[in-house]
Amino acid sequence: MLLNKEFYYCKNCKKVVNNLEDLLFVEEGSPLSFCCEVCIEKYYTPITDYFQGKVFKLRKDLNLEEELALSLMDDPALVEKTLSRPDEIWRIENQIKEEVYSFITHIKKGEKSYHMMALCFVFNKTPSFVLTLTATENEYLLQQFQTGEQIESLEEFYKEQLAIENMIDPEILEHLELKKSQFLADLMEHRSEADIPFENFDLYMDYMTDTIETADEVYRFKDDEDETFQASIKGQVKDGVSFFFIVVSYHMPDDEGREMVLPILSFPTVDGKLCEYFRRGEQVSGGLKN
Ligand SMILES: [Zn+2]
Repeated sequence: MLLNKEFYYCKNCKKVVNNLEDLLFVEEGSPLSFCCEVCIEKYYTPITDYFQGKVFKLRKDLNLEEELALSLMDDPALVEKTLSRPDEIWRIENQIKEEVYSFITHIKKGEKSYHMMALCFVFNKTPSFVLTLTATENEYLLQQFQTGEQIESLEEFYKEQLAIENMIDPEILEHLELKKSQFLADLMEHRSEADIPFENFDLYMDYMTDTIETADEVYRFKDDEDETFQASIKGQVKDGVSFFFIVVSYHMPDDEGREMVLPILSFPTVDGKLCEYFRRGEQVSGGLKN
């Protein structure tokens, strides 16, 4: 057949894709689609350059090129919070209905207030591509990210995700957040500098479901507080590069005594040592260690 309804192509490299499920989307409501993450990056590079240039110019004009706040971007928990649970979301739409979002988190450290801001495209309520990310204590620079309309109710915005979370007791959710930050701190301590950078983790989140469903290895272990966790590990390949994807989940019996498995932390790594670190406790599925 010369042509059928399943004809798509990557808007960057023009490769033909015959399955809608193999396309990656970045902008909500836009048919712009890509064959892989590399194509997304390439396609948008001039736009990220544009915004980075703008921010650079602003910083120069404000004499803020070497601001202390910039070091906040080395803290993955803050970056993650900004992208997944910000304090403010702003949205701007042009005349042809293209949207850019601004996700902002306010951070208090002692007497000082800092702000972390991300300009991004959003798909399914989640930043799908970050155009620029920065942090400052300068109110004027902050205001440059507060344009368009502010999303009045973040709760409304995140309604879909909240619907799932609402099924879980808020106390348990809080507990999970705590566990998550412990594992995140643990991860930071054992991470190597040469590993996949934190700001790129977003690009790997598609591997989470697959890793949980078809893990190569699964380990079950208890933490210091005698609570049960599970690490699912799978060797994955992205753009020709092999890496491990690891999902740490919390095990919790539900009201009917069934066990619920709630993912609390997931990340890619190219570091075999880090992977080894998460192979702990009892192996419950998959081949032998190594
Ligand atoms: Zn492509």
